[in-house]
Amino acid sequence: MRIDEIIAGSSEPVFSFEFFPPKTAEGERNLFAALQELSKLDPAFVSVTYGAGGSTRTKTIEIVKRLRDEFGLEAMAHFTCVGATVEQLRGTLDEMRDAGIDNVLALRGDPPAGQEQWRKTEGGLEFSRELIEMLDAGYGFAIGAACFPETHLDAVDAESDLRYAKAKVGAGAGFLITQLFFDNAFYYDFVGRARAIGIEVPIIPGIMPIANFQQIKKFTSMCGASIPPALMAELEARADSPQAVSELGLSYATLQCADLLAHGAPGIHFYTLNRSPATRAILSALRLMRPWDRRRLASARTPAPPPWPAGARRPARPHVPGSRCPAPGARR
Ligand SMILES: Cc1cc2nc3c(=O)[nH]c(=O)nc-3n(C[C@H](O)[C@H](O)[C@H](O)COP(=O)(O)OP(=O)(O)OC[C@H]3O[C@@H](n4cnc5c(N)ncnc54)[C@H](O)[C@@H]3O)c2cc1C
Repeated sequence: MRIDEIIAGSSEPVFSFEFFPPKTAEGERNLFAALQELSKLDPAFVSVTYGAGGSTRTKTIEIVKRLRDEFGLEAMAHFTCVGATVEQLRGTLDEMRDAGIDNVLALRGDPPAGQEQWRKTEGGLEFSRELIEMLDAGYGFAIGAACFPETHLDAVDAESDLRYAKAKVGAGAGFLITQLFFDNAFYYDFVGRARAIGIEVPIIPGIMPIANFQQIKKFTSMCGASIPPALMAELEARADSPQAVSELGLSYATLQCADLLAHGAPGIHFYTLNRSPATRAILSALRLMRPWDRRRLASARTPAPPPWPAGARRPARPHVPGSRCPAPGARR
């Protein structure tokens, strides 16, 4: 089923889980053990990343099929322009269509390892918008695209980045999923600006529960997402205790999600890193507390509540020179 239709037809927030194709037999066992647990949570959809340089092409398609066939989950394949000519991109898309895949997250991708700047492959595509145009013209997939509340690292500025996000929607993307962030004010500000320039599709916040201090520092420095100083201080205070870090990460992400849902976010896309405990705990708690009902109750009491917290500030974005931002899974 098409994810744009799932979102449009749902009266509740949509929860989705992102996985990456494991490289080892042990990684594969871990993934499927996590899936045993996470599939019980009945996500609206799941997605599987596309490794840097197309390195997981076959694996991505294979896992998407297994998620659908063995777990009954609606699964989306991520797909990038990296290292492929238009003809090769079409070849992979034909494979996805023949495998019965309905949903594709269309991305540019990041430069392959060892390459500093993004350069399109000769005979390939430069921007994800072109990939979206190709998908829209020749295939029946529901198309998603990425967006960046803290602005993409290669962007000239936030305004042009947003305009390009709008162009992706104009080309056929039916929903956007954000890069991870740890300050909801970035999301509220981004959504406000997106609506103001006419982006009307659902913008699903991508949330990563922090599980490991070193790992999250690496991820955020690669993608330019910032860790608020107060959160960083709390993480540093727990640097010697992995368990204390993951407990804080879980609590923080739970509150982040609750706040987002209470303010009208259409769902949460969890970056699971192929692990189940944090996502399982957070989603279970959210479903018990139903923070999204608070918004409905507020609407019943007051005729026109603001869609986002009044006066949501736009935090300063620290500059991270030379860093890049693939999806968490794609970096592995
Ligand atoms: C939810 C999510 C999932 C992801 N999954 C994966 C994955 O599976 N595999 C993977 O390798 N990576 C993944 N990524 C990372 C993504 O590929 C990188 O962040 C990449 O650098 C940008 O991809 P994009 O599709 O947003 O690129 P684009 O939309 O092409 O934008 C890239 C840059 O070009 C600029 N730009 C766009 N159009 C123009 C134009 N016409 N003229 C000038 N500049 C322009 C934009 O402002 C931006 O700075 C994911 C990211 C997210 C948020």
